[in-house]
Amino acid sequence: MKIRILGYYGGYPYNGIGTSGYLIQSNNFNLLLDCGSGVLLELEKYLNPLQLDAVLLSHYHHDHTADIGVLEYYWQLNTENRKEPTLPIYGNINDKINFDGLTWNNDTKGIPYHENDILNLGPFLIKFMKTKHPVSAYAVKIIEKSTNKSFVFTADTRYFDGLINFCKNADLLITDTNFYKNKKGTKWHMTSKESGYLAKQSNAKNVIISHLPQYGSLDELLNETRDEAGSNAKVNIAKLGLQINI
Ligand code: ZN
Repeated sequence: MKIRILGYYGGYPYNGIGTSGYLIQSNNFNLLLDCGSGVLLELEKYLNPLQLDAVLLSHYHHDHTADIGVLEYYWQLNTENRKEPTLPIYGNINDKINFDGLTWNNDTKGIPYHENDILNLGPFLIKFMKTKHPVSAYAVKIIEKSTNKSFVFTADTRYFDGLINFCKNADLLITDTNFYKNKKGTKWHMTSKESGYLAKQSNAKNVIISHLPQYGSLDELLNETRDEAGSNAKVNIAKLGLQINI
């Protein structure tokens, strides 16, 4: 399974780099996980968007969905050479207005996923866990059926202990790390220290911190995470276009 980072800022794009988006590929199947601001432009560098097999959205905050509308137009305006006649876009159904927006003519179609169901999608089995966020958001565990390798994406969430089991022994874990360790007050994302703790407790084999802040030193954010994770954990920071093979 290959995972490519198409955008990693939280909230808004910055310095030519977009918000949340990841291309997951296995056995010629192309899954786009989240479709934030700037993600479609970045995706086009690597894949004709008509070659997508499916899109999966962790939640409906704009920094995870901003490019869904233009992706729908891309499909509407290109009726030839689609890999699928209609692009399936998977999302939660708790927010009906946003869910209904995933269906556009016969070009794209919203399909609900449910926390207690395992989604069987091409080469993947996908599990969900509701996170702690102001809107319904779901962490996803994507398991490659042929290898049993697993990729976990925390989506957006504040820290809670239930994440540890969900992330257990992941071959790749990408965490929402939007705050430096000294962040005070109400938090709807994890701090560097909390991501480091999750990296350590989950025993994930490879960890990448993402959903990054536009301020401060990202080297410091990474060092804070590594300090908490300990020397056994392999922790790195998101880079645009980086591809990880697991
Ligand atoms: Zn969010």
